[in-house]
Amino acid sequence: MLLADVHCHLHSTQFENDLAEVIKRAEQTGVRVIIENGTTQESNRITLALSKKFPIIKPALGLYPITEEKVPKTLTTAQANVLLEMIEQHRNEIIAIGEVGMDYKWTRTESDKKQQKQTFARVIQLSEKIKKPLIIHSRNAEQDVLESLQTSNVKYAVLHCFSANKKLITRAADMNLTFSIPPIITRLKHFQELVAQVNISQLLTETDAPYLGPLKNERNEPVNVLESINEIAKTKKLTPEETANILWMNYQRIFSSHKESR
Ligand SMILES: [Zn+2]
Repeated sequence: MLLADVHCHLHSTQFENDLAEVIKRAEQTGVRVIIENGTTQESNRITLALSKKFPIIKPALGLYPITEEKVPKTLTTAQANVLLEMIEQHRNEIIAIGEVGMDYKWTRTESDKKQQKQTFARVIQLSEKIKKPLIIHSRNAEQDVLESLQTSNVKYAVLHCFSANKKLITRAADMNLTFSIPPIITRLKHFQELVAQVNISQLLTETDAPYLGPLKNERNEPVNVLESINEIAKTKKLTPEETANILWMNYQRIFSSHKESR
């Protein structure tokens, strides 16, 4: 089976002690590519370093819309500038721009929302300029994310862990966006319904490891994309092999500018 994890965070300290084993487990199960997503300047640096150490890891550099403090704040223009420059500087090394997006969970003022929209618009511009797909996080901000993308010329964008309602899912699907499905689908009806609703040509697998695992309170890791494949197979009434093959073609179509390891 050819499997892809298009969104995870192996730079997390939760993988500090056994990353080589985690990668080996994934490889033995058929995972051929792991797209590691940076979120800050520091994690972007680790992402690049990990991709040099492990050929299976393809780096995506990102700009998380909010800070990693206990009470997160919206990124300022100055903070965003640093990350946008960093992404552009490494344009030839990266497979995608991610994790980027909008997050209104902590930002309820209009000026914060406006700030996030402006930054995301600049991320979209960069994606058009350097021709790299976007891997997008959206929390309580799905509608604004779709509106920003709708007026852009971005060719490929992946909505990671998309938790919007049916109407917005339809809208995103009509815009030809792709959805990456985390293993939490085994215990979250929302993703089972999303998979039923969306054409299989617009689906990918992710883990968001160490988060969103199939088991509550247990560290998630790339090998678990197989759980997503099995769930998608059930819903689409295909075998896991057929499902994996279709999703692998989706992966290649979207991220084709970069070669995967075999
Ligand atoms: Zn993530």
